[in-house]
Amino acid sequence: MAPMRRDSIRLLAVGALLLLGACATTPAAGPSWSIALHGGAGVISRSDMNPEAEASYRASLSAALEAGAGVLRGGGSALDAVETSVRLMEDDPNFNAGRGAVFTADGKNDLDASIMDGRMRSAGAVAGMRTTRHPISAARAVMEKSSHVMLAGAGADAFAAEQGLEQVAPAYFFTEHRWRQLEQELRRRNAAIPMRPEGAAPRPVQGATDLHDHQFGTVGVVARDRAGNVAAGTSTGGTTAKRWNRIGDSPIIGAGTYAQNGVCAVSSTGTGEFFIRLSAAREVCALIEHRRMSVQAAADKVVHEELPAIGGDGGVIAMDGAGRLAFSLNTSGMFRARVADGETPVVHIYADEE
Ligand code: ASP
Repeated sequence: MAPMRRDSIRLLAVGALLLLGACATTPAAGPSWSIALHGGAGVISRSDMNPEAEASYRASLSAALEAGAGVLRGGGSALDAVETSVRLMEDDPNFNAGRGAVFTADGKNDLDASIMDGRMRSAGAVAGMRTTRHPISAARAVMEKSSHVMLAGAGADAFAAEQGLEQVAPAYFFTEHRWRQLEQELRRRNAAIPMRPEGAAPRPVQGATDLHDHQFGTVGVVARDRAGNVAAGTSTGGTTAKRWNRIGDSPIIGAGTYAQNGVCAVSSTGTGEFFIRLSAAREVCALIEHRRMSVQAAADKVVHEELPAIGGDGGVIAMDGAGRLAFSLNTSGMFRARVADGETPVVHIYADEE
């Protein structure tokens, strides 16, 4: 064979090998944008949920999903999509975040939130806010406008007010069904029931009908935009009748929220103390990054193996660096929804809906 010919064959062979190598290491492309959200996990059974309540939750989830998807479809950032969807759910009394948050044992709403931008792994978080209408926007302001990651209590509200974020009277967050949950929990504990917050609507004479009587409803969103950037955010009122300024996982970066470009975005919901102990959101990302697990396998390992092993329950929404989405829950339900470019939106409540 002529030397020229032999060289070109060798070149071709090397090229083919390089191509094969590249295919083996580059993950298959995901959708050009994608978004998933949750509205809390817990004991949610069909028998507890009447058709009206179920329809109301599905409508709330669809509206929040569409709001974030609209941002991404129009070329907006993952961070904007996350903030947009979370703000909508913070305004929606169906969820335990912003308006509709659960009450502390002394009849207050202490609000926690966090957000993370996967580009530089920058993050912001707030805990125990009482007057800021949108805690997720306060978390974003901490990330973008301060040199800190986490602010708490009255200082966090003061910072948010300084940043021009809307401040509201505490009664703004009040909902009758959350107040009843508080009363019920305090009675169970044989503890004193606090005064209704100033400005709250008077107790209805009748109306034991509570369409939305469940204790859950933390909200979270993960998104990937057309530029390939990921973000995650979580917002909550925490747990009913919490005391001593208890803070759960939702505002803890690595537990409730995590995002890292090329790897993952995660938001958690469930018994926060266990998610903190596991660094649950970061753990899902670590399994993807270091063990090369698929996003579904990583989420399932944390939610179905690691959490139950220490007594925790709840779920996560997760995506990998390419925007492929996963839900995982070890409870009977998790309010959840997802959509990706070119796909039909999915809205689920019960564990067996897939
Ligand atoms: N994880 C939240 C907390 O512990 C509650 C929840 O997700 O239901 O504050």
